[in-house]
Formats: sequence, C-alpha cells, structure tokens
Amino acid sequence: RDVSITERLFEGLTQAGDRVVLTDGPSGEGWTGDALIDRICRLAGGLQARGIGPGSVIALMAPNMPDYAVVFHAVAMAGATITTINPTYTAPEVGHQLRDSGATVLVTIEAFLPVALAALEGSAVAEVVTMAPSPGHRSIADLMGQPLAAQVPVDLDGHVLVLPYSSGTTGLPKGVMLSHRNMVVNVDQALPLLDVRAGETTVAFLPFFHIYGMNVLMNAFLARGAGLVTMPRFDLEALLGHIQRHRVEKLYIAPPVAIALAKHPLVDQFDLSSLKIIMSAAAPLGPEVAGAVGQRLGCAVIQGYGMTELSPLTHVVPHRAPKSGAVGVSAPNTITRIVDAETGLDCAPGEPGEVWVKGPQVMIGYHNRPEATAAMITDGWLRTGDLGVVDADGYLFIRDRLKELIKVKGFQVAPAEVEAELLGLPGVADAAVIGVPDDEAGERPLAFVVRQPGSDATAQSILEALRPRLASYKLPLRVEFIEAVPKSASGKILRRMLRDKLAGG
Ligand code: ATP
Ligand code: MG
Repeated sequence: RDVSITERLFEGLTQAGDRVVLTDGPSGEGWTGDALIDRICRLAGGLQARGIGPGSVIALMAPNMPDYAVVFHAVAMAGATITTINPTYTAPEVGHQLRDSGATVLVTIEAFLPVALAALEGSAVAEVVTMAPSPGHRSIADLMGQPLAAQVPVDLDGHVLVLPYSSGTTGLPKGVMLSHRNMVVNVDQALPLLDVRAGETTVAFLPFFHIYGMNVLMNAFLARGAGLVTMPRFDLEALLGHIQRHRVEKLYIAPPVAIALAKHPLVDQFDLSSLKIIMSAAAPLGPEVAGAVGQRLGCAVIQGYGMTELSPLTHVVPHRAPKSGAVGVSAPNTITRIVDAETGLDCAPGEPGEVWVKGPQVMIGYHNRPEATAAMITDGWLRTGDLGVVDADGYLFIRDRLKELIKVKGFQVAPAEVEAELLGLPGVADAAVIGVPDDEAGERPLAFVVRQPGSDATAQSILEALRPRLASYKLPLRVEFIEAVPKSASGKILRRMLRDKLAGG
C-alpha cells in the first residue's frame, strides 16, 4: 500500500486511541496512542522548522524507551533519513557510522554523551540533542514545534527512510538502505504470521536500533495498536517480572535469551503461565534449547529468519503448524531458492545450498557500496550467505553461515550443530565452536564452553558425552572453558573474538 511507515503506524495508534501502547519498563510511565501521535507530529513540525527534511540524516543512539519511537517517526514524517546506532559501540565505532552515514544531527541520552562527543571528529554532526533535558544541550522537548499535519511526501520506493547497520558479525558493519515500502511491506507480512492482536502487550528488550527490534517489535506492534513495555537493556529478572505483570502471551527473543529461559534458576520464581508463543530469530537455535524452553514454560517455541538487508523477515514458522528446527515458511510475496553458491544453479529438492530470497522487503542496497550491493543482489535475488535446505512442506532449515562452516577433510561441519549438542549436555551453560587449522584434517572444530555454576564437568567428560551424539569428524579437537561467550547486542556469537582470544593466548 502507498503509505509511509509513519502513516501505517498512525492507523494502529489511532485505533488504540486513549489506550496505553508504550510503557517505559523502569518507570512504568505509559503513553497512549493519541499522545504518541501528538508527540510525533509536534517533533516532526519542529524538525521541519529547523530545515530538516528530505536529504537530512539524523543519527539516533539510545536504549529502548518510548521516545525512541517518537524520534524515529518524527524524522520519518519530516521526510528525512534516520540512522540507528548501537548504544554499546565505542567512540571509534560510533565515529565510523556518523561519518559513513553523513549524519548532521545526533540524538542520544545523557549517559552516552561522553562516547558520542568523542565520536564527532571528522563527522558532519552540527548538533547533539538529548532525549531528556540535559545541561548544555537542547533536548527533543526543546525542538518540538507546530504539529506537522501530514507526512512530507517522499518516493516510497527510492527514498532512504532508515539506514541501520548490519551487525558486523562477519566484517565491518554495512549501512543498509531501507525504504518506506520495505518497512511497511514487512510489517504487513509479519503481522498475520505473528498473529499480533490489538490490545495485547509484549516486552521489548530486543534493541530498537537493530532491524529485528525496530520493525518486528516497535513498528509492527504499534501499527497493530498493540502494546510494548520497553527495557533499556536485557535483564532477566526484570523481563520475567514484566511477563508476569502484563500477562504477556507472545515473546520475541534471540537465542541467548532462549538459553537463559532454558537454564536459569530465576525462571522458576515467576508466574509465566500467560506465555503462549516464543519466537526466536537472529541466530541459530538448536532443538535441545528450544525443546527445554517449551517444556519448562509450557508454550510453543518457534523461529523466524531474516537479516538487516531484508527489513528483516522472510520466514516465520506458523504457530499453528510448528516444526522443530525449522526457521519458517516463506512470508507472503516472498520466494525462496536454494542455490549452489559456486554454479548459481538451483539445488535438487531437499539438497542444502545457499538461501536466495526475493520479495518487496529486499533493501535498496548498501549505502556508498555499489560493489557490495552488486555482489549481494542478482536480478532481484538477495544472496543471504546462509546454508539452508527446504523440506517437502516448504519449511526452511538454516544450517549456519556459509562463511562459518568448518572444513574437516572433505566434510563440512556447521558450528551451530556442535553448539546445539553441547548446549544439550548437563553442566554446559553456554557454548561456541570455531574452526582451527589442523595439519592432518585441514581444519577441526574447537569448543569453548561456559560451565554451569557448581558443575564438575571436565573437557574429557564433555567430549565423552558428545561422542555418541556426533559423527567423529564433527567432534571438537578439544574443549576450552571460558567465563562467557562473546555475543553482539543482536544476539550473535562473535567468533572472531574467540579466534583473537586463541591467537592472543
Ligand atoms: P554482518 O552482515 O555485518 O556480518 P549479521 O549478518 O550478523 O552481520 P544481521 O543482519 O543482524 O547481521 O543478521 C542476519 C543473519 O542472522 C543471517 O544472515 C543469519 O546468518 C542469521 N540468522 C537470522 N535468523 C536466524 C535463524 N532463525 N537461524 C539461524 N540464523 C539466523
Ligand atoms: Mg549479514
């Protein structure tokens, strides 16, 4: 449909009317649909009065909070571009995104000012604005002006509405250009699959700066007139409290949270009986952990699949027809191919290959990187870089990223498969697997394990327990114990940090 993402949002907010849709988790302060529309229109008017519109890029570096949606949609309504920054970034990382995106205004919170100010050098940022009043800076309240009556017209297909950066799991984060159409289409594709209903509430701890929290939670929920409780950072105890208090039925998570829900003792101290469906996406979720969560909480655990370049969703498992291990069936208007990455030809049915997808949610391209865009999109098909297989019922299964596969003699080992087996063992709190060079085999898997508190598991006992569960070429060469598995804010194992750790001794 020919609407901007903000017009799409206003449909849900208008329907919600005087019902609270956004609640700040820590303070409990709530915003109704009507109040949010008013706040967005006044900030959009204020931005326009200051000359911000098509061509302007505004950077937003903030934790999840109700005003995140206000800034996001005020910028969108004024016809400008928003680039969302990971609040855990260091100053050099923030600096890279500010320079690369060409942002001229940075909106942030007081606590992030030291990092933000240290990142400005060499960027085009002329003003730093804070979410709440802060001495020496203008706040968004100071910018509010006459309410804008309507969306500033922009090309819904060509205009870059949002410029999120990919997670940087495999290299430098890349700016991903997404249009109003990309975002609206994906909200409308996701809502029926997720079965979100007006009036229900979920907890938003997945960060809004990342496409999953941004479009699947913030935008889709508000566009449906459903409610969100925002959490500024992940905190298991606070999350469990919100689920209990708001009788949450559906929860959207990434695999690290699934591990906590499966294994953490705190989970038993809360009444979580309202939960019906938990959807995990963003990284591989093994059947052992998924099964343990489902059993412990008495709810369905399903997966979704997507990436920043796909706004983000292309696949969701229908909760009425779940399938263990699957990441989903193709979303409406989305087609999936499994391709031999070397020849570019389709694989035989049931054979694994690279997942290619096509649909209206495919990005415009990478910002300032025409070669990277050309390498990623072929005739409208987006090459995901993930190894997958589609079964006879059309369910997609993801093995792992092609780049992460470990080549042992002639065989390929997916780290995700070995990690899933490790996570199923008693005494294992978390695990990560990387490939290490091996004279004889070329490469061999090496396992990093976080021991469950109080467990007396040894490297030997873990390897013994794995032996009957994995073919011998998949078995780790050895097990190293670590304190915690390094993960990104979007929930991915940072294997490059484990490689560095190994190289550094
Ligand atoms: P970068 O592209 O910068 O290296 P990234 O690929 O981690 O970072 P995102 O766009 O956040 O950045 O992540 C997309 C990737 O997440 C997919 O390509 C896929 O590897 C992984 N992924 C998403 N959902 C699932 C899932 N359900 N199961 C397995 N992997 C998933
Ligand atoms: Mg990627």
